[in-house]
Amino acid sequence: MTIYAELEIPDTLAAGPGPGNTDPRVLQRVAATGVADHMQKDVLRGMVEAKHMLREVFGTQNTHTFGVGGSGFSGLDCVLSMILPGDEVVVFVNGTFSGLDALTIRMKASTPADLAADPLNPQPANVKIVHVPHGESVTEEVVATALQEHKPMWAFMAHWETGSGRINDIKDFNDACAEHDVMGIVDAVSSLGIDDFNIDEYPAVVAWASCPQKGVLSLPMTYAPVSFRYEAIELIKQRGCYTYVHHPILEARHWGIIDGADVDAGTYHRTHSPYAIAAFHEALRILLSYGRKQKAADYAYQEGVLRRALEAMGCEVTSNMTSLVVLNLPGRFAGMEKELVAACRAEGFGIWPTLSEPVQIRIGILNQLTEAAITDIVGRFADAMLKMGAEFDKQAIMNTLYRRVEAAA
Ligand SMILES: *Cc1c(COP(=O)(O)O)cnc(C)c1O
Repeated sequence: MTIYAELEIPDTLAAGPGPGNTDPRVLQRVAATGVADHMQKDVLRGMVEAKHMLREVFGTQNTHTFGVGGSGFSGLDCVLSMILPGDEVVVFVNGTFSGLDALTIRMKASTPADLAADPLNPQPANVKIVHVPHGESVTEEVVATALQEHKPMWAFMAHWETGSGRINDIKDFNDACAEHDVMGIVDAVSSLGIDDFNIDEYPAVVAWASCPQKGVLSLPMTYAPVSFRYEAIELIKQRGCYTYVHHPILEARHWGIIDGADVDAGTYHRTHSPYAIAAFHEALRILLSYGRKQKAADYAYQEGVLRRALEAMGCEVTSNMTSLVVLNLPGRFAGMEKELVAACRAEGFGIWPTLSEPVQIRIGILNQLTEAAITDIVGRFADAMLKMGAEFDKQAIMNTLYRRVEAAA
């Protein structure tokens, strides 16, 4: 028998697409939380308070707004569980994550025969996948054309596709869904808590899913925010769905949402950890006290600073998200992306390559919204490029990082 030494994990700079570095206040809340069970009154109160704060974060009056225990894909599994075998679905894919969402949808919309034919990668004829090239956004025209042609029951899109760093317009998506009488579902994993938007302004989107570790920044992994419109819940009441643990109606019960109404305290669905509740609650408090609008503005500003510095080093930026920069190295270093990323990661500077083709580098700024943090990220990346053989004047770039912004202001 081997009993290993205590697991030590060092601090690193999470400068990728996610997870972002957790606020120390969240970790302090976890450490300060007492031993209690999942039905203790303050734990239940924390869930009810978190539910109300989450409605602010989503910009919604939807009663069915709560956290699904787990990561982003847990929330997506919950909202996508509305899709039943044989349902007609149109899915827009423009990167790794919408591709994985499409796989989830193909699995859920499959009949037993579809699953038996290709168990891990089923291809039900009732799911139409619309591929948009990596590095491009899903355009209004692509959405309108596909919905017009297929007239599906459901349409699905990622709001911010983290794989390629591209923003897809939710107003265009909503309007096309409304025009063709389609129920929209959106993956807002990468945009919630970063962009400033109210989901109630997009009523043709009947369900939204996000995650704990990007814009909400609650690690340890806690709750994936979801929100359902009344129509969606009514449909589930009529048709049911094939899940207990992620059931949109049953899981909501523990958050004090019963029969479409708020009650003072939840009833048991599955065991919740007081530490997870405390972390999620604190993360929502931090986000709302910072202010959604201010946070969105700070992300946009700091992304601009990082982007210009990378361009000054000769990199080509192909993304338009404000929490993440996706770039190509200067031509003569093409093909060395993975090597460069590995060298950075070995030094505790956690950047990422793309997870699907083409290979690009992704540098994120989740929770890195200060001048000191961006200066640190730019400096570390510059050092890594210089080590690889790039030639530029690092000091000149560092000197102009914020001066240029001030001069323009
Ligand atoms: C990160 C991400 C996911 C997956 O979230 P997990 O927390 O890793 O489960 C899904 N969709 C998008 C758009 C993402 O950025």
